[in-house]
Amino acid sequence: MHANLADSAPVIARVEPLTRTRTVRGPFDYRLRPDQADVGVGTVLRVPFGRQSTLGVVLELASQSELALDRLAEPDAVVPPGVPPDLVALAGWIAEQYCSTPSRALSLVLAPGGAGGRRRALLQAALTEAGAAALLGTERLTVRQREILTQLQSEGPAPAAALGTAALRRLQERGLVELSPLAPGGRPVTLAVGRRLEGPPALTAEQRRALEAILEALDPAAPAAGGRFLLHGVTGSGKTEVYLQAVQATLAAGRGAIVLVPEIALTPQTVGRFQARFGDVVAVLHSGLGRQERHAEWLRLRRGEARVCVGPRSAVFAPLADIGLIVVDEEHDPSYKHERDPRYDGRSVALRRARQHGAVLLAGSATPRPESVVALRHLYLPHRIDGRPLPPVEVLDMRGLHHPLHPRTRMALADVRADAGKAIVLLNRRGWSNFLSCRGCGQVWMCPNCEVALVLHGAHGFLSCHHCGHRRRAPTRCAHCRSVAVARHGSGTESVEQELREAFGRELPVFRLDADATAGRGRLAETLARFESAPAGILLGTQMVAKGHDFADVALGVVLDADQTLRFPDFRAEERTFALVTQLAGRVGRGRDGAKVLVQTLAPEARSIILAARHDADAFLAQELRRRQALSYPPYGSLIRVVCSSPVAAEADAVAARLHGLIAGAGRIVLGPAPLFRLRGRSRSQLVIKSRHRAATVRAVGAAVEECAADAARRSVSVSVDPDPQ
Ligand code: ADP
Ligand code: ZN
Ligand code: ZN
Repeated sequence: MHANLADSAPVIARVEPLTRTRTVRGPFDYRLRPDQADVGVGTVLRVPFGRQSTLGVVLELASQSELALDRLAEPDAVVPPGVPPDLVALAGWIAEQYCSTPSRALSLVLAPGGAGGRRRALLQAALTEAGAAALLGTERLTVRQREILTQLQSEGPAPAAALGTAALRRLQERGLVELSPLAPGGRPVTLAVGRRLEGPPALTAEQRRALEAILEALDPAAPAAGGRFLLHGVTGSGKTEVYLQAVQATLAAGRGAIVLVPEIALTPQTVGRFQARFGDVVAVLHSGLGRQERHAEWLRLRRGEARVCVGPRSAVFAPLADIGLIVVDEEHDPSYKHERDPRYDGRSVALRRARQHGAVLLAGSATPRPESVVALRHLYLPHRIDGRPLPPVEVLDMRGLHHPLHPRTRMALADVRADAGKAIVLLNRRGWSNFLSCRGCGQVWMCPNCEVALVLHGAHGFLSCHHCGHRRRAPTRCAHCRSVAVARHGSGTESVEQELREAFGRELPVFRLDADATAGRGRLAETLARFESAPAGILLGTQMVAKGHDFADVALGVVLDADQTLRFPDFRAEERTFALVTQLAGRVGRGRDGAKVLVQTLAPEARSIILAARHDADAFLAQELRRRQALSYPPYGSLIRVVCSSPVAAEADAVAARLHGLIAGAGRIVLGPAPLFRLRGRSRSQLVIKSRHRAATVRAVGAAVEECAADAARRSVSVSVDPDPQ
C-alpha cells in the first residue's frame, strides 16, 4: 500500500477558485505537500492565484496533471471547515442546470459566514435584578422588550441571537439584561434546555394512510424506497403533523431530515413545533440569525450533533451525512426560487438531493403547483382536523365602486366589531397610493431610474420606487405646469389602515403587516404575536398575512383587489391568484363556526377566483393543466428567460437579437426580443425560450451566452439567464 501511494505521489488537487467573475473557469491543478495528505474533495484551500491568493474548493484528487509537476504551485493552507463531497457534486449540478458558474454554485454550499476567519464569541443574555424589577415596576418598556424580559425571567438565560441582539443591546444599556460570552459548544438558538418535549397525538385515519405510504418509502429495502410525494391537504388538515411523524420515523431509522419552510419569520409556529417535538436534534438556519450563529448551527449539522435541519430554501444545502427525508412545506411558495445567480429553485434542488441520498421527498400544500401534481405521488387530506368545513367565500363585484371597501365588507367588519372578534384583511400593495398625477397637465410622477410610477408612502411623506428604492419628498405642486392639484390614485395598505382605524379602530385595533411596517429584526414576529394574543382586532397586510399562520378564531377574511395578481403578464398569474384566495381562506374559521371570507374584485368571472371561492382545487388544477399543455408551459415544456440590460437601449436590443439567432431552432421557440421597462437606469430587452427538452435548451442557451460574452462586454450589456423563471 505504502509503495503504491509513493508511486503515485505527489497528489494533485483540482481546485475551483471562489471568484464571482464569469471569465475565470477552473479547476486548476495544485501540488499537495506531504503534510496535506488529508485534503479531499470538498476541502477549502487558500491557494496562490496569479499574483494574489484566493480561496478555492477541491473538486477532485488526481495523481497526474497535464502540466509539469514543478510548474504547479502548492496550496498555502487548509481552511476549515470544508464542504461534504455530496454538496460539491450538487453544486456542479446547479451550475449546469441554472447556467451559472461552478464557483458561484459552490458559494451556496460553503459554511455560512465563510470558511476560516476569526469569529467573535456568541453571546448569552440573562436578566439582571434591575430587569426583574422593571417587569414589576412602572419602567417604560416596549411590547417586545417586555416579552424578552418575561422570557428571560421564566426560562432563564438564553442565546442572544434567538432574541435579537439589537433589542438586547438597548436593554443592556439600561442595565436590564446582562450579555456574556456563550460557553463553547453552546447552542445559539433557543430551546430552553429541560423544557418537556411534546409527544405526538394519535393520527386521524386520513393522516395515517398518508403516513403509511411515506413510511414504506422510507425503508431502503422496500420497492417503494425513496418515493416522491405530494401531500395535498386543505389548510388545517394536519399536514405538519404528518411531516413531524415522518421525521420521527426517519430519525428512528438512524437517518437525518431536512424540512424546508417558505420563510422562518412568517412561520415561527411550524419551526416551534419541530423544536418542541425533537429538541436539540433540530438545527434552525434562521435568516434572522447572524453569520456566526448560522455557522455554529451548520457545524452542529456537519458534526452530526443535529440530525434535523429546519430552514428556508438555503437549508436544502444542510451538511447532513445521511438524509432519509426532505420535506418541502407550502411547496407552492415563490420564495423557494432564488432570485440571484445561481437562480436555483429550492424545490428542484430538493428533488436532486433526495435522489443523491436515496431519500424520500415530501412536498405539501393546500394549493400545490401543477408541476408537482404531475411529477409526484398524490396523497390527499381533504378534511380539516377540527372537522369544521372551510369557510364560505363570497365574491364581491367592485366594478363601478370607487371606495376601497365594498358595502358588504363594511357590514361584515361591523359584525366583527359587534362580536369583538378578529379579521384578516389582505391587500397585496404596500404604501399609501399607487401613483400620483397632476390634474393640470396629467403628468405622472415617475422614478428617474426606472420606467415605473413612484408610490406614495405616508399621507404626505415621500414617494418611493419599489424597484430601485429611489426616494423623494412628496410633491406639493407640479414642476411642469405649477398646478397644486395633485391627484392620488389607488390605495395601498397604508391608506386602508387609516380607513380601518377611522371606521373601527376604537374597538378593533389594526395590526399592519407589510415590508414597511415590519422592517427590522423581530418586528414581523412581534406583530403576529400581538395580533394572536389580542382579544379582538384586524390584521391588515400584503400576502404575508396569508402565509401558514395558525390563528384560532378568525371570524372574517377579506381580500381586497383579488385580481391584482391576475393583471401580471405571467402564465402563473392564475395559479398565484387561486393560491392567494385559498391560503387566506385557510387562515379563517379555525376553531370557530360562522366564519366567512369576502373577495373583492374587478374580475368576478375569473376562473381562478370562482374556483377558489368554491374551494375546488382539483377542478382548478385540471383546467390549469389542460391550458398549460395546450401552450407548452411547465410542466409540459420548460421556459428560460434571458434578459439583456444596458444603459443604451439599442445595445441591449442588439445583443438580444443576436442571442435569438443563436438559440432559435431545434424545436425551440424563442419569443422576443421584447422591451421590459427600464430598471435602475438600464434599458432591458427580454427573450423567453420555450422548449420540451430542458437540458439541451439550457446547454444551448449557455453556449449562446458564452459566444456573445465578448460582444456583450464591449457594448456594456449584461446578460442574465433564468431557467424556470417565476
Ligand atoms: P396543516 O399543516 O395542514 O395546516 P396542522 O398540522 O397545522 O395542519 O394541523 C392543524 C391543527 O390540528 C394544529 O393545531 C395541530 O396541532 C392539530 N392536529 C394535527 N393533527 C392532529 C391529530 N392527529 N390530533 C389532534 N390534533 C391534531
Ligand atoms: Zn402639471
Ligand atoms: Zn426606481
